[in-house]
Amino acid sequence: MQDTFGRPITYLRVSVTDRCDFRCFYCMSEDMTFLPREDLLSIEELDTVCSTFVERGVRKLRLTGGEPLVRRGIMELIAKLARHKDSGKLDEITLTTNGSQLAKHAHELKRLGIERINVSIDTLDPEKFAEITRRGDINQVLDGLKAAQDAGLKIKINTVALKDLNEHELTDMVGWCGENGFDQTFIETMPLGDIGGDRTTQYLPLSEVRAKLEADWSMVPSTLNTGGPSKYMDVTETGQKVGFITPLSNHFCDDCNRMRLTCTGTLYMCLGQDSSVDIRTALRADESLGKLHEAIDQALTLKPKGHEFVIEPGQGEPALMRHMSVTGG
Ligand code: SAM
Ligand code: SF4
Repeated sequence: MQDTFGRPITYLRVSVTDRCDFRCFYCMSEDMTFLPREDLLSIEELDTVCSTFVERGVRKLRLTGGEPLVRRGIMELIAKLARHKDSGKLDEITLTTNGSQLAKHAHELKRLGIERINVSIDTLDPEKFAEITRRGDINQVLDGLKAAQDAGLKIKINTVALKDLNEHELTDMVGWCGENGFDQTFIETMPLGDIGGDRTTQYLPLSEVRAKLEADWSMVPSTLNTGGPSKYMDVTETGQKVGFITPLSNHFCDDCNRMRLTCTGTLYMCLGQDSSVDIRTALRADESLGKLHEAIDQALTLKPKGHEFVIEPGQGEPALMRHMSVTGG
């Protein structure tokens, strides 16, 4: 698959549910209304859609959400998708999780062929963690990390940089990741979905984070290029990588290889733009999957050259109304 700008499209991110056991304040509002279950793609439908993309050249799948590990049937889905890895059609299945259910699932994930996972942790301070997630328990997540390490999963920590909340802790977190053998990616808050408040007060530019970390650690640009929005640095003292995702600058669009499927089966070709195709209707319309292939063909014509996020002080409105938990982070 190639888009109209000649970029090969090989990476599909799939939100398997909009539900979550946390309510991180930058991601959801406290009294979030979740989608009716019948709007979601079933586990069988998710398998069909992902498998069709694999047939068409997708080499990497990332399952996300919401919280992927609270979706009923998720392990069954991963077990089904693993056949494409076994056959060599797929290089990798991975997931992004808040870690709350990892203690339960880590070993099974590894057994099913998952090698790497991303776990989102913004702070190691138990009170701040409870404040940011509005209901999470850091110890439960740390137990999950331990289980994942024991199982032999490679772990990357995702950390959203938050003004006043974790900005003074980020240097220590780099050290903690180093001690545990975790890579780490810092993320800027993105204006996605109504969160019941003004998000510009929590916006901390990664340029500031990076300048502070460069003063505290020896960091050299890494040769690693994932084709994604992260620019990586090697931390000399720890031997680990630190990445910076700056979606509000457009530097990564030129070699973007990804698409995103929402939990309701809408395919977005760019996190920062609204053009999409309705995969669910196409899938349900035609058992021979002809309409699904047509919808994918149409989607390939829609991928924009780049996105147009803006986040400015005083601009409390989200740039796009869909939440990250629906589109998949
Ligand atoms: N629940 C899982 C988790 O937290 O890892 C997966 C879904 S979550 C939407 C994926 C990532 O998106 C997390 O690292 C989260 O911190 C990040 N995220 C959520 N809302 C965001 C926002 N408005 N701006 C930037 N990152 C966001
Ligand atoms: Fe849930 Fe992840 Fe959103 Fe936090 S960031 S509310 S863990 S989906």
